[in-house]
Amino acid sequence: MIDKRLAPYACHPASSRGRRHAEPPAPTRDAFQRDRDRIVHSTAFRRLVYKTQVFLNHEGDLFRTRLTHSLEVAQLGRSLARSLRLDEDLVETIALAHDLGHTAFGHVGQDVLDDCMKPYGGFEHNLQSLRVVDELEQRYPAFNGLNLSFESREGILKHCSRRNAELIEAREPGGVASRFLQARQPSLEAQLCNLADEVAYNAHDVDDGVRSGLIDLEQLEAAVPLVRRFLRETLAEYPGLTGKRLLFETIRRMLSAQVYDIIEATGTALAEAAPQSVDEVRDSKPLVSFSPEMREASSKLKRFLFANLYRHPQVTATRVRAEEVLRDLFAHYLGDESALPPEFEANPDRPRAIADYIAGMTDRYALKEHQRLTGKRLF
Ligand code: MG
Repeated sequence: MIDKRLAPYACHPASSRGRRHAEPPAPTRDAFQRDRDRIVHSTAFRRLVYKTQVFLNHEGDLFRTRLTHSLEVAQLGRSLARSLRLDEDLVETIALAHDLGHTAFGHVGQDVLDDCMKPYGGFEHNLQSLRVVDELEQRYPAFNGLNLSFESREGILKHCSRRNAELIEAREPGGVASRFLQARQPSLEAQLCNLADEVAYNAHDVDDGVRSGLIDLEQLEAAVPLVRRFLRETLAEYPGLTGKRLLFETIRRMLSAQVYDIIEATGTALAEAAPQSVDEVRDSKPLVSFSPEMREASSKLKRFLFANLYRHPQVTATRVRAEEVLRDLFAHYLGDESALPPEFEANPDRPRAIADYIAGMTDRYALKEHQRLTGKRLF
């Protein structure tokens, strides 16, 4: 057995609640290492490279995509997990899988698809990530999906509406959706991925935002205390530093400070709550967090990015066109009985099959398909 020197409150792979379909253990990998490998080999994971995080794929080669975002979340998550003696492989699995259910074109895709699916049960990207690993991947002869461990699936289902939680609970009593109905917490590894996600996107969106020219460091210095602090600290040590090196050093210091803050605040919360098992973690209040000061600082940065980057007229203009692409595609497939690939045709719930098909599309595949079906060229 692999000794990972995990804390008692960590998810221990040997004590996993197991898989939906029984499988013999792998000789050289524990349950979570195996889950991580299954994600890396999945089709949905490879598609992330051509899915938008904030900037559309064709807008530049050096902006984050969903894939590089997921890798950054995994890197931050692993570092944090190691310091807190949590299971690194489980954190990596959840991080690499957390955005598998995202549509093309960034957040707008989820909103549009949810709107199109309103009469048919809606669309939630977290739920879709779980659907990808539970149902949509077709790689095994004996079952649909990747048959991941309970703990990986629990972490992947980050949020869920009450209605959908009840539907999952009906299919899987006491399963991954129970906690939303009982107001319990997920594992620390799942809580940690959530926060690592926020730390990662705040930092890389500052980077991409500044390099795209849509926001600048002066603006950030004036409006965001967290950036101001590390920008000034960097300039105090390297007077006259400018451009990308100033940007990168500021972000690096900001990232490190957030990581150390999480380790300290979470360490204190863990020492106070002293959970002796994952079940005690699930019954506790949320334990992975920033300090109150860093929570406030991070929220301010988030609000700045929302107002100045995600709502920038140039970003909004591409959102409008992306919305048209997805609406047209949905309407077309809903009206044409013969238009879906065979693996989706098997689902008698046609609107859901259409949502699954569209949600899986990469930015460029969606554009190509849209152009083929409508003759319109929007980008
Ligand atoms: Mg994310």
